[in-house]
Amino acid sequence: MRFTQPFVCEIAPDTYAINEYGIAAEFLVIGSERALLIDTGVGLCDLPGLIRRFTSLPYDVVLTHGHGDHAGGIGHFSNIYLHPADFEMVEKIDLEGVKNYNRMLGKQGAWEVYDYDPDAICPIKKMPVLHPIREGYVFDLGGRKLTVIETPGHTAGSICLLDEKARILFSGDACNINLGIFDSPIEEALTGLNKLADVRDKFDRNYNGHIGYIKNPDCLAMPPHVLDDCIEICKSILDGTAQPEILEWFGGKKACAVDKNGTRISYPG
Ligand SMILES: [Zn+2]
Repeated sequence: MRFTQPFVCEIAPDTYAINEYGIAAEFLVIGSERALLIDTGVGLCDLPGLIRRFTSLPYDVVLTHGHGDHAGGIGHFSNIYLHPADFEMVEKIDLEGVKNYNRMLGKQGAWEVYDYDPDAICPIKKMPVLHPIREGYVFDLGGRKLTVIETPGHTAGSICLLDEKARILFSGDACNINLGIFDSPIEEALTGLNKLADVRDKFDRNYNGHIGYIKNPDCLAMPPHVLDDCIEICKSILDGTAQPEILEWFGGKKACAVDKNGTRISYPG
C-alpha cells in the first residue's frame, strides 16, 4: 500500500501540516481573517486546491528559505514573501534540480511508501512577485500572529515563524536533527539559534520543513532537545572542541559533520 496523495494532519486547531510524499512539508495556518501557507514544497501538490479544502479566506504565501525543495511550488502563486537574502536563489530556481531531488528521495525509499511522479511538478510560467520580510515582520491572520525570526545559516535568508497562539515554531530547515549550515558562518547561525532559545517559553513544538522524511509517513515535530543540541554543537565547533567527521553532503560536496544526541550539524569541510 502506498500513499497516492500528499497527506494532511491537523497539528493544532486551524493548523495543518502537509506531508508532501516524505520529500518536503508545508503548513497551512488559518486565522479569523486570513490564512498563511508556509513553504511551497517540491511542486508536486496542488496547493491552491488543497488550501481551498480547508479555508475560503484570502491567504499569503511565505517561504522559510529559497531552496528548491521549499520554493518548488511557487509557480502556483503570484505573490511570495521571503527574506531578501534568498531572493536570487528563488529567482534562479532550478526546477530540473527539484525533479532530480524528487527522484533521488524516491530511490532512497520514498517510493516504497509514496506513489508520485518526480517530474509532475508545477511549472513557473511567470516568476511571482517577491516581497521582502525581515526580523520582526508579523503576519497578522486575525486572532493569531506569526512573527519572523531571522535564523541565517542553512541559507543566508533562512527564517523561522513563531506562532504564539498555537505555541508552534515553524523552523523550515533552520533547526532540525540534520542541519546543514553552508551559507553563513557558524557564528551567525549560533546567533539565530540563540534567538530561538530566547523565545523558548513561547513554543512547545518545532515543526521543520521535512516531516515524515523519505519513508516515515508521519507528521511529527522535531524532538524537544534539538534546539539545545544545535546550540551546543555550534559552540563546540567555534571553541575547537568538536571532533568533526568528513562526509559527503547533497550534491557531492565535502562537509564536516558533528553529532550530539542524534542531532547532526554539517558545514563546509
Ligand atoms: Zn533547505
